[in-house]
Amino acid sequence: MRPNFHSAADQSSRGASWEPSVSRLREAIDARELSLEIQPIVDAVSGQPLKGEALVRWRHPEHGMIGPDRFIALAENNRALIEKLLLWGIEEALAIAVRLAAAGTALPLAINVSGSNLLDIDLPKRIMELLARYGVPPAQLAFEITESAAFGDPMRALAILSQLRGHGFDLALDDFGTGYSSLKVLKQLPFTALKIDKSFVVEVTISSDARIIVKSIVDLARNMGLRSVAEGVETREVADLLGTLGADALQGYWVAPPMNEERLTQWLRVKRSAA
Ligand code: C2E
Ligand code: CA
Ligand code: CA
Repeated sequence: MRPNFHSAADQSSRGASWEPSVSRLREAIDARELSLEIQPIVDAVSGQPLKGEALVRWRHPEHGMIGPDRFIALAENNRALIEKLLLWGIEEALAIAVRLAAAGTALPLAINVSGSNLLDIDLPKRIMELLARYGVPPAQLAFEITESAAFGDPMRALAILSQLRGHGFDLALDDFGTGYSSLKVLKQLPFTALKIDKSFVVEVTISSDARIIVKSIVDLARNMGLRSVAEGVETREVADLLGTLGADALQGYWVAPPMNEERLTQWLRVKRSAA
């Protein structure tokens, strides 16, 4: 049975007739209507937290909670706005990272990066400036790039991703298996992890096709020296099978839902005291 956690997209359904605009989204960032929830990613064997994925939410004064699926595509069509959103997200994550470390519950945080962000060659420099301002080392921040985004303009993406990797950030290829991966390009780009798309993971115990795909991605990652992260782990059965198939890390409602900072801190305390 599906656990009783709802995605931000589910929660936003009551505002379904309203559509956000570029200018309203820009205002929302300045008015601090956006916030981050963090979803833990744990080691498949020990269950210990490895990272947290930062997921943006928009608390609209009239339309309630709006999930990223309702506004990220809009932002992606506007280069200045998607850059503003990314830099806001990094700064917010850095502030959270500093507080988590101060509370004795440090956790590296992963930020989602859109393809349109990989057009700005100054991006690595701006990110390093933010890290310096917050006093956070690159090991405490990581990036997830969706497959189609990274491969839209591979040479430009390569230049930016190589710089980020050179600074020591982990780089995960997101939603793997749903895009147009050329294995040759995959080999050229400096990723450290493959995230297996949840559409395969949710079916892994009931579909032999899904199982073959998940196993193939796990093996591909291992053979390329990358870690494999399964997202969309909703049940113990799925988690157990992923362990058998050799996935390195798990993320999903069965592990923990996306949480605000306070709940995340409590969750981390319980986990670490059980270690
Ligand atoms: P994603 O990167 O694939 O993030 C995982 C999504 O799966 C999240 O949806 C998360 O809440 C949901 N999820 C987590 N566990 C489970 C599970 O067990 N089962 C199922 N079915 N779903 C699960 P969310 O938060 O609605 O985000 C949707 C997408 O929006 C993200 O997909 C990501 O591509 C994008 N996104 C989120 N935050 C940002 C951001 O700050 N910047 C950018 N550029 N994109 C973002
Ligand atoms: Ca992601
Ligand atoms: Ca994903």
